[in-house]
Amino acid sequence: MKHEVETSALFKMIQRFDQTARFPAQVSAKEQTVTRLLIAILKKETAEQSIHFSHEAIEMHGGNGYIEDFVTPRLLRDAQVLTVWEGTANILGLEVVRLLTKHKAHEQLFTEMKFTLENVTVLSKEKALLQKEIADQENWIHEGLQLSQDLQTFHSKEIAKRLVDIYEGVHAIERAAESERKLSVAKVFIHQTFNHAIKKANPLTLKFAEDILQLSEETAAKTDEN
Ligand SMILES: Cc1cc2nc3c(=O)[nH]c(=O)nc-3n(C[C@H](O)[C@H](O)[C@H](O)COP(=O)(O)OP(=O)(O)OC[C@H]3O[C@@H](n4cnc5c(N)ncnc54)[C@H](O)[C@@H]3O)c2cc1C
Repeated sequence: MKHEVETSALFKMIQRFDQTARFPAQVSAKEQTVTRLLIAILKKETAEQSIHFSHEAIEMHGGNGYIEDFVTPRLLRDAQVLTVWEGTANILGLEVVRLLTKHKAHEQLFTEMKFTLENVTVLSKEKALLQKEIADQENWIHEGLQLSQDLQTFHSKEIAKRLVDIYEGVHAIERAAESERKLSVAKVFIHQTFNHAIKKANPLTLKFAEDILQLSEETAAKTDEN
């Protein structure tokens, strides 16, 4: 779920960046600041998650996954560079703090996220969960911005993580109306990310696994046909 939602969210951001780069006059300064913020938080998150997912790919393939002749060790090795080059996680964290303190980028981001949510007509429970999360993070960031510069730096990666979770959660629910499968993906993603009180005895990941995996196989079959 995380991989799917994150990849889709990343491409949405790339589309936004293209728009900003090609037609800057049509994009307000506030929106351009949000694009900068999204680049920083998504670069950091996708780089870190690449290491996690390539690690999972090795584990999933067992002994074959580990041995050097298989493709997966190369995936993991290559993924390691992503958190180092083109902005390390720490440097991106500093960029996030700068964008928040100097340009109030979070205010415009939250405005955009709320607007997107207002137009969502599915998954009312999950929508409410996201709206609450946005309100909580608005308060958390407001308090964080009163802290000393050193403490802001200390919390910078945590701030980036909280913002990227919201962006991805809102993106997941925004695309949920496109298909039953995406609806299930959004439901599970949002509960796993934000609903910390979810019952251990009935995890949504298991409840919706069949839906999601069955349809994934159909998609894979279609891709094979093509
Ligand atoms: C395979 C490869 C190819 C590359 N290709 C290019 C290229 O084509 N062009 C190019 O220009 N560069 C290239 N680079 C360089 C790459 O961009 C740098 O390695 C990267 O920016 C990190 O800088 P650094 O190596 O000097 O590490 P450092 O800046 O020394 O960072 C080391 C650690 O300290 C942390 N750190 C550094 N400063 C701070 C700070 N102020 N606050 C908190 N933490 C901090 C970093 O997050 C990191 O964890 C390449 C690197 C690699 C590995």
